[in-house]
Amino acid sequence: MHALHIGIAGAGLAGRCLAWRLLRAGHRVTLLDSRRRDALDTAAMVAAAMLSPLAELAVSDALVFALGQRSMELWPQWIAELHASDPQADAQPVYFRQQGTLVVAHGPDQSSMDHFTRLLQHKLPASHREQVQPLDAVGLATLEPALAGRFHSGLHLQGEGQLANDQWMEALAQALDRLGVVWYEEVVVHGLEAQRIRGKGGSGELDIAVDLVVDARGVGSKPLLSRLRGVRGEVLRVECKGVTLQRPVRLMHPRYQLYVAPRPHHQFVVGATELESEDTGDITLRSMLELGSALYSLHPAFGEARVLRLSAALRPALDNDQPACLLQDGIWHLNGLYRHGYLCAPALVESLMQKIGEAHA
Ligand SMILES: Cc1cc2nc3c(=O)[nH]c(=O)nc-3n(C[C@H](O)[C@H](O)[C@H](O)COP(=O)(O)OP(=O)(O)OC[C@H]3O[C@@H](n4cnc5c(N)ncnc54)[C@H](O)[C@@H]3O)c2cc1C
Repeated sequence: MHALHIGIAGAGLAGRCLAWRLLRAGHRVTLLDSRRRDALDTAAMVAAAMLSPLAELAVSDALVFALGQRSMELWPQWIAELHASDPQADAQPVYFRQQGTLVVAHGPDQSSMDHFTRLLQHKLPASHREQVQPLDAVGLATLEPALAGRFHSGLHLQGEGQLANDQWMEALAQALDRLGVVWYEEVVVHGLEAQRIRGKGGSGELDIAVDLVVDARGVGSKPLLSRLRGVRGEVLRVECKGVTLQRPVRLMHPRYQLYVAPRPHHQFVVGATELESEDTGDITLRSMLELGSALYSLHPAFGEARVLRLSAALRPALDNDQPACLLQDGIWHLNGLYRHGYLCAPALVESLMQKIGEAHA
């Protein structure tokens, strides 16, 4: 494929990852976003960024599982490539771990755990079932000493991973600059055509001619993708020096599933609510209490955790809750990443790059 000038609307998770791969492949990229690059209120920045192909299969389907499996191969490669290309990389490598996920339930909620286990065994391809390892109290304490004596049993979902999304998004922004991206921040895109992007920012109207356009505005693409909806998610970020976890822990509960994803410097991301609502307002008291009390029930030392941030954002979802990269009216769309954006992004970007390559061979 010859070098193209590609305009991308949206510099969130999808837009930023795609821009990076396109620039590395030798294309020119112009990126436009209505927010500043360090804005904290996008889905990309609010997410827990757990990479959970197995656990997510309980609430998704074979497509998401396949994209997730491919992405689990690509993530370590991507992170190594990003790191290798950054002269300052040693200063702050992107935090990435692939030590599996622990799933636990309190005694009265064991039926939720049993249901989850059966669902996984039913939906998982036979070749992956051995990745679901039952644990007794001793096995659980060996994996996560902090939880010793707190649960009688659990599951270890082997091969699952996690990423520090804030570090990833920042490192990508720096890589894009090094590769020569043209990035318009705080420009609201309001017009997309096959070879044209129009937007409005502080310095007035922009009208940019490109060879092809990709719309990656998440929920902001609603005017063009009518099947798109926003699904509200809220998370809590805490710092707690009294607890050390090696891997994300999911706590089964009949009303909500809590997860606690450890981050560097004793920080934890606790999430997430999932509400069929496009309310972009601050986290509610009810959600805060539910997340906080479930966290406290995981380990009482969390009672002394310092609350660093409470955040909410909309996950962009299509009717079938599947991600999509498709060409519609001459415009490429990368959207519908829903609750699996980090899980699926590398494989989706790879697929879109291939489709674009075939269309412009
Ligand atoms: C609470 C929560 C927890 C999550 N946890 C996980 C998880 O553990 N694992 C996982 O895999 N996924 C998770 N996700 C999902 C993941 O964050 C999303 O799937 C992903 O961020 C979607 O990427 P996106 O680029 O489509 O949208 P976004 O990341 O939201 O980016 C869209 C970008 O488009 C810009 N934009 C919008 N409208 C316009 C406009 N008109 N003009 C210009 N720019 C515009 C926005 O400013 C934004 O920068 C979670 C999401 C949430 C909310």
